[in-house]
Amino acid sequence: MRIKEYYQNKPVFSLEIFPPKPGSPLDGVMATIDALSVLRPDFISVTYGAAGGSRSHTVAIADTIKNKYGIEALAHLTCINSTKAEVAAILDRLQKAKIENILALRGDRPADQGAAPLATDFQYASDLIKYIKSTADFCIGAACYPEVHTEAESAEADLRNLKIKVETGVDFLITQLFLDNNLFYAFQEKLAKMQIRVPVAAGIMPVLNKKQIERITSLCGASIPPKFRRILDRYEHNPEALKEAGIAYATEQIIDLLSSGVDGIHLYTMNRPEVAKQIFAQITGIRKHLKAEA
Ligand code: FAD
Repeated sequence: MRIKEYYQNKPVFSLEIFPPKPGSPLDGVMATIDALSVLRPDFISVTYGAAGGSRSHTVAIADTIKNKYGIEALAHLTCINSTKAEVAAILDRLQKAKIENILALRGDRPADQGAAPLATDFQYASDLIKYIKSTADFCIGAACYPEVHTEAESAEADLRNLKIKVETGVDFLITQLFLDNNLFYAFQEKLAKMQIRVPVAAGIMPVLNKKQIERITSLCGASIPPKFRRILDRYEHNPEALKEAGIAYATEQIIDLLSSGVDGIHLYTMNRPEVAKQIFAQITGIRKHLKAEA
């Protein structure tokens, strides 16, 4: 099924996982899918080459999610430094696995490439979306940034570029992680002003490790609000305490977003099913209530 159809029955609950590093076996991620499947998410997305994960495994993992577990799969696909022929080969594999949904992304520039023009067939995610639409029939999601993409000239330019991207053929958006819901609500208002009307899922990351979140936020441009900074500083050397606080914080964000009528919650699971399970256990009644209302 096409993910855009799930958003007609919002809120949509989705989970994100990543493939193992190149050369590593798939057993661990398969066990992760097995554990996550009991949460009955609307879909599970699989990253593509993010944080060193193997690109070649993305299709195989999405295939398992869709065809073994019967859960809708969203395959991430980046285009930076890829040729059209390489992208065409992936599209072909996805079609053969009957995967109907792609999160079309530009991808991050390799650290050693600097800001030099990319010697590739694609400059932006919108080029990838145009190409996919010219060759195949997929439901297409894309990324958006409540705190502005790190390379954007300005917040206004980033929104204008987002509008171009959406008009190229985006069916739904998923946000970069954010730790302050007010940033998301302000972003929603800006989208409305720009008449960007596709569903927007809120990307939520339960934080379990201070160094990790500092590294991620420094790369992706998300901010750490004082309320969460206090938690990190207080419990950074106590994994049990930080895990408890990180899960509670993410759960509180999710409850607030759901109460405000968010289109979807996209949980960055970091391949930690026990964390996703603890969060979902805290919102069982809320999910039932919202399902009954829908
Ligand atoms: P784009 O939409 O192309 O935007 C990139 C920059 O270019 C922005 O600053 C934008 O304002 C600007 N821009 C866009 N169009 C134009 C234009 N026409 N003219 C001028 N400037 C323009 N990375 C991975 O490697 N693998 C993954 O699986 C992955 N999954 C992700 C999932 C989510 C939900 C998110 C939020 C990010 C993910 N990323 C992933 C990271 C992503 O690849 C990076 O953030 C990347 O730097 C930008 O990708 P994009 O698709 O948003 O790019």
